[in-house]
Amino acid sequence: MIEVKNLVKRYGDHLAVDHLSFHVDKGQIYGFLGPNGAGKSTTMNIMTGYIASTEGEVLIGGHNILEEPEKAKKCIGYLPEQPPLYFDMTVGEYLKFAADLKKIPKNERKDQVEDVMEMVGITQMKDRLIKNLSKGYKQRVGLAQAILGYPDIIILDEPTVGLDPKQIIEIRELIKKLSKKHTIILSSHILSEISAVCDYVMIINHGKLVASDTTENLEKMTLGSNTLELTVKGTKDKVEKVLENLEEIQSLEWNKKDKNEEDGTVSFTIKTEEKVDIREKLFYKMADNKMPILKMHSTRISLEDVFLELTENEKEDKKEQFQEIPETIEDSQEEEENDSDL
Ligand code: ADP
Ligand code: MG
Repeated sequence: MIEVKNLVKRYGDHLAVDHLSFHVDKGQIYGFLGPNGAGKSTTMNIMTGYIASTEGEVLIGGHNILEEPEKAKKCIGYLPEQPPLYFDMTVGEYLKFAADLKKIPKNERKDQVEDVMEMVGITQMKDRLIKNLSKGYKQRVGLAQAILGYPDIIILDEPTVGLDPKQIIEIRELIKKLSKKHTIILSSHILSEISAVCDYVMIINHGKLVASDTTENLEKMTLGSNTLELTVKGTKDKVEKVLENLEEIQSLEWNKKDKNEEDGTVSFTIKTEEKVDIREKLFYKMADNKMPILKMHSTRISLEDVFLELTENEKEDKKEQFQEIPETIEDSQEEEENDSDL
């Protein structure tokens, strides 16, 4: 459906997109994930024909975006990072104008405008001036504009940026609904955003594709196990004997002794399945065998760790960018209720 081959974009000396290749198939939600400045918007602007690439090519439904722009663009609806809204128009006027630009047949315009307003829930805002709408509603108008003409592919650049948690959930649900009929590509610098909505993730850093797989596979790769690190008073033989009888344990590895550790202790790492928590059981087992646990530390690798590792050099500023966003409206209300309990 979309074929991106060896895309390069240079701004002067700066390589914003660095030999990017990927393809997008029908009927899924694809996520571009990457820190700010990774090259997401640049890539999307090239794919939609807004800007030209330095090298490489983009085929949309078999049409080269530069050689057959009209045919290629007909397949795409685009919501850029800054939605192209006219603030002095009403919502209805703007969408009619957008329908004109998209050359939607005259006799279909009115129905389509009404239909997309209904889809994104802005029918009651039809006669309001865009400048008087909240950020969430402005975003919906932008989205309605992208859906006009019912293109096969809808490309959304950071569709939830600047919205509050409730609006984020609403837009997310809308995106999921749209994905029943359209292929969707969206970008975000927020991991939870992508993992909540997308079937397929492409992680971009410094203009390069550093990972691409289904959300499920990326999570499986990372969330496969629980890890426990322990330091116990005793010997390797005794530890082995005790752990032998715990069938929850998948693997055991001996750790290198660190300088501060006392003699007569051993350190090791064990892995269990993701949902298994054997800390209490271990505590009692070791106690029964008179082997005091001096240290026990549980770690779990997450998709977030993988993302951080793949995009290593931005580690510091990125920590702050991981906002927790509730999965559903109920969750967000729960959180509000919890907050008010404090
Ligand atoms: P993202 O959307 O992932 O945050 P962008 O595609 O906006 O990243 O930017 C990628 C890189 O290209 C950044 O380093 C940015 O500063 C640079 N860049 C983007 N647009 C321009 C431009 N018009 N002129 C010069 N540099 C640009
Ligand atoms: Mg961007």
